[in-house]
Amino acid sequence: MSRAPFNDKVAIVTGGGSGIGRAASQRLAVEGAQVVVADIDLPGAERTVELIAARGGQAVAIRADIASEQDNQAIFDLAEERFGGIDAAFLNAGMIQPYGPLEALALETFDRIIAVNLRGTYLGVQQARARLRPGGSCVVTASLSGVIGFAEGPAYAVSKHGLVGLVRSAASAFAERGTRINAICPGMVLTGMTGTVGLEAIDDPDEVADPAYRGALSAQQIAEVALFLLSRRSAGINGQAQNIDAALLSAFPPLA
Ligand code: NAD
Repeated sequence: MSRAPFNDKVAIVTGGGSGIGRAASQRLAVEGAQVVVADIDLPGAERTVELIAARGGQAVAIRADIASEQDNQAIFDLAEERFGGIDAAFLNAGMIQPYGPLEALALETFDRIIAVNLRGTYLGVQQARARLRPGGSCVVTASLSGVIGFAEGPAYAVSKHGLVGLVRSAASAFAERGTRINAICPGMVLTGMTGTVGLEAIDDPDEVADPAYRGALSAQQIAEVALFLLSRRSAGINGQAQNIDAALLSAFPPLA
């Protein structure tokens, strides 16, 4: 009989209080992992833990701002103290608001988005490099805006391009410790985040398969790719950035 891929494994998910992070936390728990659900929104993280517990899974919530070095450390400390070590780190938390074109971009906005998305994830990557057990894997949520420009969100695109560069550069340092790091680059995922830029949130992947949603993805579809990269099934992949775009880039203009 085959074992669930994350049996006896411990996973950390940042931004686990909603969207892609919640979907990944739930899937990791179903696949056998003990999960630390971290989010700046504690009620959101606690709700994810409730959903996991309702299906017999094990998880714990922590309020953490990934922009803080101390909070990043606290997430990894909790995983070690509660569950004995860390095998999978899904560094997924991020923000897009306020967004708008370059001419309207305030320096404070630029600084905050870089502080959270890029510097904050960098702090988590350093924790993962130092603390993942051999065989472990780190996955960073970048974006399609990490590989192509995003005129409506230049600071966001800079932060996500930075994450792709970070992952490509960090892989050998992870490999030295017998661990891996990869990035996922989702296109348009219908979560709360896309809700804030005028699109609806959708939870049912079957609904997203509707042609009306060409180019759009569900949080669950992104979580599946993250789980593959976090698991030993992807053991040969290190330092890569995987686009997940539902054919968005195959058409130009993208969503005409
Ligand atoms: P979401 O808004 O549902 O989830 C983001 C989560 O991150 C929220 O729970 C939020 O509270 C948390 N968060 C924000 N700032 C934080 C901080 N400083 N510290 C800790 N937690 C924080 O949106 P989502 O779509 O699930 O986003 C998850 C990731 O996917 C983000 O990194 C986002 O940039 C990326 N992404 C999203 C899309 C999309 O279309 N939705 C596309 C590409 C990439």
